[in-house]
Amino acid sequence: MRIGTTCVQGGYTPGNGEPRQIPIVQSTTFKYATGAEMGKLFDLEASGYFYTRLQNPTNDTVAAKIAALEGGTAGMLTSSGQAANFYAVFNIASCGDHVVSSSSIYGGTYNLFAVTMKRMGIDFTFVSPDCTEAELEAAFRPNTKAVFGETIANPALTVLDIEKFSKAAHAHGVPLIVDNTFATPVNCRPFAWGADIVTHSTTKYMDGHGVGVGGAIVDSGNFDWTKYPERFAGLCTPDESYHGVTYTERFGLAGAFITKATAQLMRDFGSIQSPQNAFYLNLGLESLHVRMARHCENGLSVAQFLKNDARVAWVTYPGLEGDRYYELARKYMPNGTCGVVSFGVKGGRAAAERFMGRLRIAAIETHVADARTCTLHPASTTHRQMSDEELAAAGVSPDLIRYSCGLEDAADLIADIDQALS
Ligand SMILES: *Cc1c(COP(=O)(O)O)cnc(C)c1O
Repeated sequence: MRIGTTCVQGGYTPGNGEPRQIPIVQSTTFKYATGAEMGKLFDLEASGYFYTRLQNPTNDTVAAKIAALEGGTAGMLTSSGQAANFYAVFNIASCGDHVVSSSSIYGGTYNLFAVTMKRMGIDFTFVSPDCTEAELEAAFRPNTKAVFGETIANPALTVLDIEKFSKAAHAHGVPLIVDNTFATPVNCRPFAWGADIVTHSTTKYMDGHGVGVGGAIVDSGNFDWTKYPERFAGLCTPDESYHGVTYTERFGLAGAFITKATAQLMRDFGSIQSPQNAFYLNLGLESLHVRMARHCENGLSVAQFLKNDARVAWVTYPGLEGDRYYELARKYMPNGTCGVVSFGVKGGRAAAERFMGRLRIAAIETHVADARTCTLHPASTTHRQMSDEELAAAGVSPDLIRYSCGLEDAADLIADIDQALS
């Protein structure tokens, strides 16, 4: 099946007389005839549902669709994108370990890595996504367990050179984990370029309507953990909390990573997505391929307008010819990038605030990748405690406006921007 067909029909094939739309299994628990049968589930000897903190059939149906969209072997939903990135890394890195990450990542992920996971004893080295191979090489340590990046970074809109990062990761015997939230599998297939694990904040384009916070993790099944049994002991040696199951032996390379993340991390942290939200997410996925094309079309139109307007200081949009990341975007996402455009208006921070206050269609929101156009001025909102110097160090210029093109008519968005600029 091609990607559009998978968006609409992937993950669920009803049998005779069964519901055409995926059922919402609104139940915390599942009934069994004997304790022995349930005991087998607890030991992972049989597969089945027993408690929705770990797994739920609605979630699994939607996770299977996302796994199919990415071309992976297994997937799981989480309660948020934050939970997805935490689980993806924590599933293979623990106290005393080290991870190499692109520095151009979502601010929430940066905090998770540099502050909270650091408190758990995991060290991160941040490298520029534009680093040379030698600079990337120098970031690795003997205890490095993974490499992390974002296919299109939020909000910097840098495009990750996935091949460069996967080559370095594999040369050091560790997987490349990429957050594919902004590009979505409709526009970028990271596994085809050597990434091993993909994560998503499904809150963004996948949901697409600002309805539910959620996340997803997909495993390609390509990374051979068993080549490095000591480095990935959690996957390759018996788990005493499951009567000695060894994930790679019992579930193979196709299932080991996701099974471990479900059996251990969901069991212990419980960041499960509600089945109701999984249902809403699936509604979003059914039109993802149709919506992404329109988001990109609007993104390009707005970026072209801004580029040619004398009142605008600068524009960043990886789909725009001449953009710093245009060539990488053409290679990794030839059908389009995303609907998010960053730009600055002449007059700096004060002009940016005035401009945004005059917009009529685009709403000021802490959100992106929605059907309704939304915009954010980091310097006066999410980053307002920072001085101009601190903002520069964080890669956010005082005049930066993040503008997320929705599904409206581009001509109306442009007219709105034009009147606000005036
Ligand atoms: C929003 C976002 C996240 C965090 O996702 P939540 O669903 O808000 O927890 C992670 N990565 C990227 C690229 C994002 O845009």
